Amino acid sequence: MGEEAPRQGVAARDSFAVDALTGMSAARRGLYVHFPWCLAKCPYCDFAVAVQKRIPEARYTEGLLAELSLRLAARAAWADAPLDSVYLGGGTPSLWAPALVARFLEAVRARLPVRPDAEVTLEANPEVADAARLAGYRAAGVNRLSLGAQSFDVRTLRTLGRAHAPEDARTAVRAARQAGFDNVSVDLILGVQGQSLSSAVQDAEGAVALGPEHVSAYVLTVEREALGQETVFARRLRTGRLQLPEEAAVADMVEAVTDVLQAAGLGRYEVSNYARAGRHARHNALYWTGGDCLALGVGATGFFRTAMGGVRTTSHSSPVRWFADVEAGRLPEAEAEVLTDAEVFTERLMLGLRFTSGLDVEALAQEYGQPSRVQRLQRLEAQGLGSQGADGRFRLSRRGLLLHTDVCALLL
Ligand code: SF4
Repeated sequence: MGEEAPRQGVAARDSFAVDALTGMSAARRGLYVHFPWCLAKCPYCDFAVAVQKRIPEARYTEGLLAELSLRLAARAAWADAPLDSVYLGGGTPSLWAPALVARFLEAVRARLPVRPDAEVTLEANPEVADAARLAGYRAAGVNRLSLGAQSFDVRTLRTLGRAHAPEDARTAVRAARQAGFDNVSVDLILGVQGQSLSSAVQDAEGAVALGPEHVSAYVLTVEREALGQETVFARRLRTGRLQLPEEAAVADMVEAVTDVLQAAGLGRYEVSNYARAGRHARHNALYWTGGDCLALGVGATGFFRTAMGGVRTTSHSSPVRWFADVEAGRLPEAEAEVLTDAEVFTERLMLGLRFTSGLDVEALAQEYGQPSRVQRLQRLEAQGLGSQGADGRFRLSRRGLLLHTDVCALLL
């Protein structure tokens, strides 16, 4: 396995601001909207998700706009600069009627400045991504589609409890192209029970065959809890009914999948993300570079910088509580966590080092008033975990990217 191939995902061909510490173009101000409903709950899922036969989507659309007004009243600075990105995530936002998405986006544009070339992403599940729906989203102003394909192997999909067949993802990408989407991302999951190296490689090849601009390939992590309840996978793992592949086997999958994607022109720009030149996710890059994110909806988490650090807001994860608050004119906030400069530094260090373009660790330390990390970086370099570039950025090697969490622990 060689060192990193040219970082094809890094080149910017747009006017998004470039983050000086990582060299990545990224949204600086984004809007995240959580659509919490799904047709069924996947056994590994730890997101804020609700399963309900009749989704109150019209009521939810109005609730989101009410929350927007409340958040703008609480912090007028949100309207000071235009939004660079909007991300409709979930849950399954492709269950949200296109006409309501159009109404929502139009109302946002009426209340907040939004740059004309803003990246507007919608997450879609293959089983609810038919041609009419996708055309409706495109007409509403969505210009990037993120498709939760997860795998092209029926057994892996079954283990993950997914409701779709491999063919559904192919049909959805064709429908997206017909609808005019020229920016499509495909999600894969690695490290699933029963998944072999060859099936992981076939998944990567299956994704490449769809010609996407972007691929995310995350390693399955089994969270103990979701909304105070043990996840199904956590229970199975505890009782021995779920056996995940060994760590070394998963590392081999990551390496092999990286090779397949890079050979197809999808450069690795982040630990788990790959893109054609200039097509990396600007909204996701906002999270990894410490941008401000206004968040709306059930269980949504937002962030903004302050002179002393930052504030992370989290809304109620129960739709009942969320509706009760917004409809009574109250912010549906479960928590507003105040972060110190040191805490923001820790997050930015961990996230910035995920980029293959590297991170100017010393400049980051100075910005947040933290001690120099030069000696620790030299130790990492001596261990072959990364290298310091002439541009001042420290880049993790392939091995360093695999051991990203441990490397960060050594730096903090
Ligand atoms: S579709 Fe996604 S958000 Fe919904 S339950 Fe499955 S993993 Fe969770």
